[in-house]
Amino acid sequence: MDNKELADLIFPNAKEVSFYEEKYKARELPEGAIVTRFAPSPTGFVHIGGLYQAEIARKLADQTKGVFFVRIEDTDQKREIENGVEQIIDALRDYDLMPDETIIDGKDVGNYGPYQQSKRKEIYQAYAKFLIEKGMAYPCFCTPETLNSIREDQEKAKERTGYYGKWTKCRNMPIDMSAEKVKNGESCIIRLKSPGNPDKKIKHRDVIKGNVDMPENDQDIVIIKSDGLPTYHFAHAVDDHLMGTTHVIRGDEWLPSVPLHLQLFYVLGFKAPKYAHIAPMMKVDGDAKRKLSKRKDPEAAVSYYTEEGIPKQAVKEYLMNIANSNFEIWRKQNPDKPIEEFELQLNKMGVSGALFDMVKMLDVAKNVISKYSAEEVYEESYNWSKNFDPELKEMLDDKEYALKVLGIERGNVKPRKDIGKWSDVKNTIYYMYDNKFDKNGEFEYQKINDKDEIEKIVKEYFDKYYDEADDKDTWFAKMKDLAESMGYAREVKEYKANPDTYKGHVGDISTVIRVKVTGRCNTPDLYEILKVLGKERIMKRV
Ligand code: GLU
Repeated sequence: MDNKELADLIFPNAKEVSFYEEKYKARELPEGAIVTRFAPSPTGFVHIGGLYQAEIARKLADQTKGVFFVRIEDTDQKREIENGVEQIIDALRDYDLMPDETIIDGKDVGNYGPYQQSKRKEIYQAYAKFLIEKGMAYPCFCTPETLNSIREDQEKAKERTGYYGKWTKCRNMPIDMSAEKVKNGESCIIRLKSPGNPDKKIKHRDVIKGNVDMPENDQDIVIIKSDGLPTYHFAHAVDDHLMGTTHVIRGDEWLPSVPLHLQLFYVLGFKAPKYAHIAPMMKVDGDAKRKLSKRKDPEAAVSYYTEEGIPKQAVKEYLMNIANSNFEIWRKQNPDKPIEEFELQLNKMGVSGALFDMVKMLDVAKNVISKYSAEEVYEESYNWSKNFDPELKEMLDDKEYALKVLGIERGNVKPRKDIGKWSDVKNTIYYMYDNKFDKNGEFEYQKINDKDEIEKIVKEYFDKYYDEADDKDTWFAKMKDLAESMGYAREVKEYKANPDTYKGHVGDISTVIRVKVTGRCNTPDLYEILKVLGKERIMKRV
């Protein structure tokens, strides 16, 4: 018996690899085109780091007229959940990051599928068979007990653990013996017969991390598990080869696996892709930094941003900030350009974990929202409210009025920047609604605190000065007249020059009106607020 016969015995139905090499032709793309992918497991949790990877991958493919595809890595069927695939695709669709090729509603879109690993079983088996034929892989019959005892022996001898070199039991098993076991129906897995020597180093040049030298792999890792499905490592090599991936962009927890992966590409006779290992997102926790954690940090979930109502555009902008630190400068120089025009460079990505800072994210969001029209703010916050805040929804139901409210200090040179998420909206506009505004509330007036003085200012203003029809200049001139008539300076400057001459200045007067009408001493432009509220509402309040 020879290796070929053994391979036939183990995988009698597997096709020749030439079949797949023929079927999946090399892609015809322009020089320099990047073919890359996002390869999540459908665990039911879409991590912000995954979205980050997808955004980077989508962008690089777009920049180079390449291809971005999504491959679902579901060979660990214990971890899988129902709808896991849909959740991923929905998130990508939500963020305008749809791949060119993937699986949608159970159907493959693209010529390099199936795009779901559990549907590629026969492909992996063909390549495993090929390796067995070449003597580069072998069946292993070791039971968990045997593997345990190997490990114990290794620990006792203070040697590296794992299935390698002299510690292997099945690597050098005579072919006839292996065949006998297979014929007897003994269950087996398939292992790589690693040609590596750990005393030698491989030179890896990572697109992000730069030069990294690591010892060669000598572990006879499992390539096909007892359920017939491949391990991540083997599937990675086969899939990224057949799917024509030029750049593997993935989390840097995979960096230590590079020697193994390069070895797999080598024994399979494939050209290896370029690797770009992305550092994880970090969070400050007390005095230390740690990875953003699915268990501890709500902001690790993409769903969090939807629930909070942080606009997608803002999330994407912030992630781009983390990816390339020069993005921020570009944005300052090009405040109105679409993010698509920024050129992302992999080699400018940070080598170590970037800090994920929610405050910064919200700052970006405030900037993004400040550029929205009232109509856009309305549409997005109204849609958000339908799912997450019935009270806000009710407020926004009257679209005509809501548009006026949301239009305050918007669309001008210095637009308001107090909204970073749709869940902020209610708190920034409630006082514009009579049923939310408590005119008898205990308001904090700033400088002018005397009740009688306040009443006097309010009465004077609304009796003698306020006219709904005034334009802004007239309105402000009148505010000054009122100030003067009551012993306050017309201008802040005047007051500052002679503080003893005046009771205060025009700003103190307008603050009284502001607080009386809105309950707050900090609001957007008071003139606009009065305009939108209108005389009738205002009179009820004062
Ligand atoms: N399924 C792997 C993961 O989620 C993919 C890694 C890769 O991109 O190759 O970590």
